[in-house]
Amino acid sequence: MNGFSSWLRNLGAKFSAGYRQFMMGRYGNDKLNMVILGAGLIMSLLSMFIHFVPVNLALVVLSYVLMGWAIFRTFSRNTYKRYQENRKYLMMVQRLKDREHRYFDCPRCHQQVRVPRGKGKIAISCPKCREKFIKKT
Ligand SMILES: [Zn+2]
Repeated sequence: MNGFSSWLRNLGAKFSAGYRQFMMGRYGNDKLNMVILGAGLIMSLLSMFIHFVPVNLALVVLSYVLMGWAIFRTFSRNTYKRYQENRKYLMMVQRLKDREHRYFDCPRCHQQVRVPRGKGKIAISCPKCREKFIKKT
Protein backbone atom coordinates (compact mmCIF):
# COMPACT_ATOMS: atom_id res chain seq x y z
CA MET A 1 0.00 0.00 0.00
CA ASN A 2 2.85 2.33 0.91
CA GLY A 3 4.53 1.55 -2.37
CA PHE A 4 1.35 2.38 -4.20
CA SER A 5 0.88 5.74 -2.52
CA SER A 6 4.48 6.78 -3.21
CA TRP A 7 4.02 5.64 -6.81
CA LEU A 8 0.89 7.75 -6.97
CA ARG A 9 2.69 10.75 -5.49
CA ASN A 10 5.51 10.25 -7.95
CA LEU A 11 3.04 10.13 -10.81
CA GLY A 12 1.37 13.31 -9.54
CA ALA A 13 4.72 15.10 -9.39
CA LYS A 14 5.55 13.90 -12.91
CA PHE A 15 2.21 15.15 -14.18
CA SER A 16 2.51 18.57 -12.59
CA ALA A 17 6.09 18.94 -13.87
CA GLY A 18 4.88 17.93 -17.33
CA TYR A 19 2.01 20.36 -17.10
CA ARG A 20 4.33 23.21 -16.06
CA GLN A 21 6.58 22.37 -19.01
CA PHE A 22 3.57 22.29 -21.31
CA MET A 23 2.23 25.62 -20.05
CA MET A 24 5.56 27.43 -20.49
CA GLY A 25 5.01 30.47 -22.68
CA ARG A 26 1.28 29.82 -22.78
CA TYR A 27 -1.29 32.22 -21.50
CA GLY A 28 -3.13 30.31 -18.76
CA ASN A 29 -6.31 31.39 -17.05
CA ASP A 30 -7.85 34.80 -16.42
CA LYS A 31 -11.10 36.54 -15.44
CA LEU A 32 -12.44 36.62 -18.99
CA ASN A 33 -11.84 32.87 -19.32
CA MET A 34 -13.83 32.20 -16.16
CA VAL A 35 -16.73 34.20 -17.60
CA ILE A 36 -16.55 32.38 -20.94
CA LEU A 37 -16.42 29.00 -19.18
CA GLY A 38 -19.28 30.01 -16.87
CA ALA A 39 -21.41 31.07 -19.83
CA GLY A 40 -20.62 27.80 -21.59
CA LEU A 41 -21.59 25.85 -18.49
CA ILE A 42 -24.89 27.73 -18.16
CA MET A 43 -25.66 27.05 -21.85
CA SER A 44 -25.04 23.34 -21.43
CA LEU A 45 -27.15 23.27 -18.24
CA LEU A 46 -29.99 25.08 -20.03
CA SER A 47 -29.77 22.61 -22.90
CA MET A 48 -30.70 19.84 -20.43
CA PHE A 49 -33.97 21.55 -19.62
CA ILE A 50 -34.96 22.95 -22.99
CA HIS A 51 -35.94 20.10 -25.25
CA PHE A 52 -37.23 22.14 -28.18
CA VAL A 53 -34.78 20.83 -30.76
CA PRO A 54 -33.58 24.01 -32.56
CA VAL A 55 -33.00 25.83 -29.25
CA ASN A 56 -31.45 22.77 -27.64
CA LEU A 57 -29.10 22.32 -30.59
CA ALA A 58 -28.13 25.99 -30.58
CA LEU A 59 -27.38 25.85 -26.84
CA VAL A 60 -25.27 22.70 -27.17
CA VAL A 61 -23.28 24.12 -30.09
CA LEU A 62 -22.83 27.46 -28.34
CA SER A 63 -21.67 25.82 -25.12
CA TYR A 64 -19.06 23.80 -27.04
CA VAL A 65 -17.91 26.90 -28.91
CA LEU A 66 -17.56 28.88 -25.66
CA MET A 67 -15.68 26.11 -23.88
CA GLY A 68 -13.48 25.59 -26.92
CA TRP A 69 -12.75 29.30 -26.96
CA ALA A 70 -11.79 29.27 -23.26
CA ILE A 71 -9.49 26.28 -23.80
CA PHE A 72 -7.94 27.97 -26.83
CA ARG A 73 -7.26 31.11 -24.77
CA THR A 74 -5.70 29.10 -21.92
CA PHE A 75 -3.21 27.34 -24.21
CA SER A 76 -2.62 30.26 -26.53
CA ARG A 77 0.96 31.35 -27.06
CA ASN A 78 -0.11 34.83 -28.12
CA THR A 79 -0.11 36.04 -24.52
CA TYR A 80 -0.09 39.73 -25.43
CA LYS A 81 -3.31 39.47 -27.43
CA ARG A 82 -5.02 37.38 -24.72
CA TYR A 83 -3.92 39.92 -22.11
CA GLN A 84 -5.42 42.74 -24.17
CA GLU A 85 -8.71 40.83 -24.51
CA ASN A 86 -8.89 40.41 -20.76
CA ARG A 87 -8.08 44.09 -20.24
CA LYS A 88 -10.88 45.11 -22.62
CA TYR A 89 -13.29 42.87 -20.76
CA LEU A 90 -12.28 44.33 -17.37
CA MET A 91 -12.67 47.85 -18.75
CA MET A 92 -16.14 47.00 -20.04
CA VAL A 93 -17.16 45.67 -16.61
CA GLN A 94 -15.79 48.81 -14.99
CA ARG A 95 -17.82 50.97 -17.40
CA LEU A 96 -20.98 49.03 -16.59
CA LYS A 97 -20.44 49.21 -12.84
CA ASP A 98 -19.60 52.91 -12.74
CA ARG A 99 -22.95 54.70 -12.36
CA GLU A 100 -21.38 58.08 -11.61
CA HIS A 101 -19.45 58.56 -14.80
CA ARG A 102 -19.97 58.26 -18.49
CA TYR A 103 -17.29 57.06 -20.86
CA PHE A 104 -16.71 58.42 -24.31
CA ASP A 105 -14.17 57.64 -26.97
CA CYS A 106 -12.36 60.61 -28.42
CA PRO A 107 -13.49 60.95 -32.08
CA ARG A 108 -9.94 61.66 -33.20
CA CYS A 109 -7.58 59.39 -31.27
CA HIS A 110 -10.10 56.98 -29.63
CA GLN A 111 -8.69 57.67 -26.19
CA GLN A 112 -11.23 56.81 -23.49
CA VAL A 113 -12.49 59.87 -21.64
CA ARG A 114 -14.39 59.65 -18.36
CA VAL A 115 -16.77 62.44 -17.39
CA PRO A 116 -19.23 62.82 -14.49
CA ARG A 117 -22.80 61.82 -15.25
CA GLY A 118 -25.82 64.14 -15.26
CA LYS A 119 -24.12 67.43 -16.17
CA GLY A 120 -26.18 67.97 -19.33
CA LYS A 121 -24.42 68.91 -22.57
CA ILE A 122 -20.78 69.61 -21.93
CA ALA A 123 -17.72 70.29 -24.00
CA ILE A 124 -15.13 67.59 -23.43
CA SER A 125 -11.53 68.03 -24.37
CA CYS A 126 -9.48 64.91 -24.93
CA PRO A 127 -6.59 64.65 -22.46
CA LYS A 128 -4.38 63.08 -25.10
CA CYS A 129 -4.86 65.01 -28.33
CA ARG A 130 -6.77 68.09 -27.06
CA GLU A 131 -9.63 67.46 -29.50
CA LYS A 132 -12.83 69.15 -28.27
CA PHE A 133 -16.22 67.49 -28.66
CA ILE A 134 -19.67 68.03 -27.18
CA LYS A 135 -21.54 65.20 -25.49
CA LYS A 136 -24.64 64.87 -23.40
CA THR A 137 -23.93 63.31 -20.01
ZN1 LIG B 1 -8.11 62.41 -28.52
